[in-house]
Parts: sequence; C-alpha cells; structure tokens
Amino acid sequence: MLTALLVGLGVSAGLPLGALPEMLLPLAFAATLTAFIFSLFLYVKALLAPASALAPGGNSGNPIYDFFLGRELNPRICFFDFKYFCELRPGLIGWVLINLALLVQEAELRGSPSLAMWLVNGFQLLYVGDALWHEEAVLTTMDIIHDGFGFMLAFGDLAWVPFTYSLQAQFLLYHPQALGLPMASVICLINATGYYIFRGANSQKNTFRKNPSDPRVADLETIATATGRQLLVSGWWGMVRHPNYLGDLIMALAWSLPCGVSHLLPYFYLLYFTALLVHREARDERQCQQKYGLAWHEYCRRVPYRIVPYIY
Ligand code: NDP
Repeated sequence: MLTALLVGLGVSAGLPLGALPEMLLPLAFAATLTAFIFSLFLYVKALLAPASALAPGGNSGNPIYDFFLGRELNPRICFFDFKYFCELRPGLIGWVLINLALLVQEAELRGSPSLAMWLVNGFQLLYVGDALWHEEAVLTTMDIIHDGFGFMLAFGDLAWVPFTYSLQAQFLLYHPQALGLPMASVICLINATGYYIFRGANSQKNTFRKNPSDPRVADLETIATATGRQLLVSGWWGMVRHPNYLGDLIMALAWSLPCGVSHLLPYFYLLYFTALLVHREARDERQCQQKYGLAWHEYCRRVPYRIVPYIY
C-alpha cells in the first residue's frame, strides 16, 4: 500500500513511470549486483551465527556451494527477518510495478493499453495481491522452513522474479497482439480455474495445519503419521500430491496465452516454472519420505499422481 501511495503521488507530481521500461537492463544489473553483495554479507553474518541457526543444506564446508545455497536459515537483525521480508515484498511488488510501467508506456505509445496488456497486468496483480494478502502462509513453505538464505534465494527474490516474471508484459510492449473478446474470455476462464485450484489447495492445507478440527477441514479423510501430524488424503490433497502446483501451472499458461503463439519468449515462464516445480516436488517428496516414512508411502499409494492427474 505504501508503494502504491508513493507511486500514485509520484505520478501525479509528474514522475515519468513510462520511462521505467527503458531502464530495465541497468536496473536488472543493479539488482543482481545488490543480491551478490547482500549474499556476501549473509555469508559473513552466518560465520557468527550459532550452530542451531544454520540450515541443513548450506553448510557443506565448500564456500561456493554454501554461498549459493545459504548458510543461515532465517538471518535476522533484532526483529527484522531478512528472508521473510525478501521472499514476497521487494520482488513481487517490483514485478507489479514494472508491469504497470509497461502498461503506461504502451498507453503513451499507442493511445491506450491493449486488451492483452490488461489481462497480463490483471492476472499477475491478482497473483501478487493474493500472495501478499496471505503472506503468513509463506511461513510454511520450503523456502522459509528448509532452505538457507544465500545467493540462490536473494538473487531469485530481488532480481530474477521482477525482471523475468514481467517478460510477458515486456514482450507485449514491442509485439502488440490483437486479442478478441471470445479468446480473452477463454483465457480468463483458464486463469480463474488455475486460481481456484491454487487458492483452494493452499488454503485447505494451511487451515488444516493451523487447526485440524477447523469445521472447513474436519470432515476430510487423513492418514496418521508417527510424528503426530496427519496427512490429508481427500479434498484437494487427495486429487494429486501437489494440487497447488497444478493450479500455479494453469495460471502460468493463462499469462502466456495473451501474447499469442508466434514467439517462444512469453512461454519462458511456463517452461522454467514447470522445471522448477517438478524439481521442487521431487525435493519435497524426499523430505516428506524422511519425515513421515511408512505413512508417506501409504499416502503415495492412495494418491499416486504427483502434479497432473493421470499424467504425472
Ligand atoms: P507446499 O505448500 O506444497 O508445501 C509442501 C508441504 O506440505 C510438505 O512438505 C508437507 O509439509 C505438507 N504436505 C504435503 N502433502 C500434504 C498432505 N497430503 N496433507 C497435509 N500436508 C501436506 O510447498 P511449496 O513451499 O513448494 O509451495 C507453496 C506455494 O508457492 C505453491 O502454491 C507453489 O506453487 C508456490 N510457489 C511459487 C513460486 C513462484 O515462483 N511463483 C515458487 C515456488 C513456489 P508438512 O507436513 O511439514 O506440513
């Protein structure tokens, strides 16, 4: 809200937001350099951290590997938690801001933003708004619970997300697409379906993990595990083992479609994200196997598909 207020005030005072797209390359370079220097600071800070604050994965003794993966799990100064702050705020807000600047520049170039640009901006604003609205849910993600904070996450959060996730809007600025209402409606339906699955699955698990007796999840079938925690085996989590990834991938498709099918670049996010989620699913699977042993095997027997029903 503070960013929206500052940008609103800036634009009404004459700030040329439409000039931002011309500075994307130097800004991306500056963000990468910032992430690199910040990661050096995090690496040095971890040398002073107690053993209990270190991440399981980023302490191999190989400095390059540990710098990349991150040594300290949740580095903080007083109450300020660097990873929690960086996970959602600078990168996601920066992404939406770049998208908005591209929309403004398109309006300056062509008189008004195209329908395709509205769709890409709208879909991605919904995604970012949703992530910020449900910010506490990040506390149960692998990034926060398992991964150290090093170059991989710092670069991802500060540079990769804002500058590559805005590629569809960047593409549309230079390659305008004629998009009719019927096709736009189909794309909206695809995005809505993806969002429905993504939000339904994530909220169901969060509600269940916070309070398994909550009336919204109390009727769902579960498997008991030796740790005392239970695994959902009906509802969204009985359909596939990662329904939230399925919803996310359907949305990724909807973000690319307004850019047409003449070029591969707008589909970069969909391809990269598929690879990321397949790899992430395999990592999570390994961790759950270690955590839950036989109960996880039983879950996999009952819910055989990982992300896409009957396919994968
Ligand atoms: P998840 O939110 O899917 O969490 C996985 C954890 O959920 C498991 O480790 C396990 O932890 C718990 N779990 C798994 N199966 C069950 C079950 N049947 N019942 C109850 N709990 C279960 O993982 P992520 O952190 O990977 O993803 C969070 C969201 O962020 C997803 O929607 C993902 O798509 C999105 N995302 C987006 C990215 C982007 O760049 N746009 C990047 C990465 C993720 P435990 O049992 O310990 O609770």
